[in-house]
Amino acid sequence: MLKLYHRQILQEALENKVDSRALEIITEANLNQDALRGQIGHDEYHFDNNAFKESYAYIEKNRAKIQTALKGGDLEEAWAAFGRLSHTAQDFYAHSNYISLWLAQFDGDTAPLPADVEHAEQVIITSEKLQSGKLYYPLEILSYIPALKKYVMPYLPKDSHAWMNIDSPEQGRKFDYAFMAAVKRTEDEWHKTLSDLSQEEIHAFCHTNQKK
Ligand SMILES: [Zn+2]
Repeated sequence: MLKLYHRQILQEALENKVDSRALEIITEANLNQDALRGQIGHDEYHFDNNAFKESYAYIEKNRAKIQTALKGGDLEEAWAAFGRLSHTAQDFYAHSNYISLWLAQFDGDTAPLPADVEHAEQVIITSEKLQSGKLYYPLEILSYIPALKKYVMPYLPKDSHAWMNIDSPEQGRKFDYAFMAAVKRTEDEWHKTLSDLSQEEIHAFCHTNQKK
């Protein structure tokens, strides 16, 4: 997903749950996952290349880091770890065909509105039809360059990231569903993270009683 949308998703999901400093550090770490060094060789950051198992493991690895960081009093690292795991969780909807499979249950006009998207349908999550975009280098990289995109796309297979991604409104109405699903998933990840913490840790992590 483009940075602008990761930022908006976090804002919608978390603005009433944490203070602005915590949200800023979470957001910075989330966006950082799309820096070049996080793009190549890190399918698990973005649910790319069908790295489902690895991506789920990456989310849990970061959730464990939150606890360790809080125990050591390192609030910034705790927020950064949530930023990283939320990036992966959000990319699930932008880089897999989950939204397409979900919408395929409805005939054309009968699909619910994006706000009513069901983001955690187990039948789809565990379906063997679920797949995520493959990265075909170097063509994939060239497809990011606007002037070259139209020449490169015909040479990329339909199961490529370039064809499958729903990273921005350019991909049409599916983007609205991916966006809303990512907001709901971020809220879920937040609650799941808090459920592992003590009251004291929750207080520190949410930072709601501190001055900026
Ligand atoms: Zn990403």
